[in-house]
Amino acid sequence: MPARVRDKGAWLVAAGLIGAIEAGGTKFVLALARADGTVLAETRIATRTPVECFADLAEFFDQASAAHGPIAAFGVASFGPIDINPASPAYGTILATSKPGWQGARYHDVLGRFGVPIVVDSDVNGAALGEWRHGAGQGCATLAYTTVGTGVGSGVVSQGRSLRGFSHYESGHIAVVRDPSDSFAGHCPFHGACLEGMAAGPAIKARWGQSLSELDDPAKTGLIAGYIAQLAVNLILLHMPDRLVFGGGVMKSRGLIEALRRETERRLGGYLSAPELDPGLESYIVAPALGDAAGITGAIALAQDFLEQKHG
Ligand code: ZN
Repeated sequence: MPARVRDKGAWLVAAGLIGAIEAGGTKFVLALARADGTVLAETRIATRTPVECFADLAEFFDQASAAHGPIAAFGVASFGPIDINPASPAYGTILATSKPGWQGARYHDVLGRFGVPIVVDSDVNGAALGEWRHGAGQGCATLAYTTVGTGVGSGVVSQGRSLRGFSHYESGHIAVVRDPSDSFAGHCPFHGACLEGMAAGPAIKARWGQSLSELDDPAKTGLIAGYIAQLAVNLILLHMPDRLVFGGGVMKSRGLIEALRRETERRLGGYLSAPELDPGLESYIVAPALGDAAGITGAIALAQDFLEQKHG
């Protein structure tokens, strides 16, 4: 293959293959893909200790690469908190976490043996990028993707890049105004009644003993929607995204996304008027189009962007 390729898209062939990892709290998705995103091999493993997971990673990518060809870059979309600053010596390292054994684990420790670039971002940023490219965020200049599940997190993608400061955003820990009817103390070990402490899956279980889906109670769903809507309003005021995507296990509860639209519109208080903000917010606040595939799609996209810059 010549170093300079003239055919449009030929860089895809020249670029080599992509190793992609979506690391979640309960499972990892591993994929080997072509540079155009076509998945050649994929597997899922349970999240255990890093020693166990990293052994599975090495085995999968060794075998997949032997079958399909050499890997040119890795894209990793991982649970955090994680160092996502490429200039940092700890790039790719899991920071303070309650997950046993994971604090200090670094993806480079297992993937470094392949001797290729490793692009790391948070799992939420990865999912946001996946939805922006191939899902509910297609056509948006700016998209905010939020997951409400075991935790709460948001990724904001603008012009194909996830926004960040010195680290990835931590929208789950914003302060929320307590509903007057709610006496729950909050479930966050750091802040008590922050958003995650009031509205994430574990907080709902701690408050009522059941998940929101099991409860299936419009009043309780409305209460949780009120907390999540405070984040939605803040995302709008801070980023003015073209669309908000809300995914994650809690968001699958019946009636929650509808209640979230109502609460968000009410809390905006008529302050903003824009064509993006349709009456009722049915087009503005939507579920993920890629479902559970958003994360691995985003992990592939992280490496694609790297290879495109290098070869495109
Ligand atoms: Zn918190």
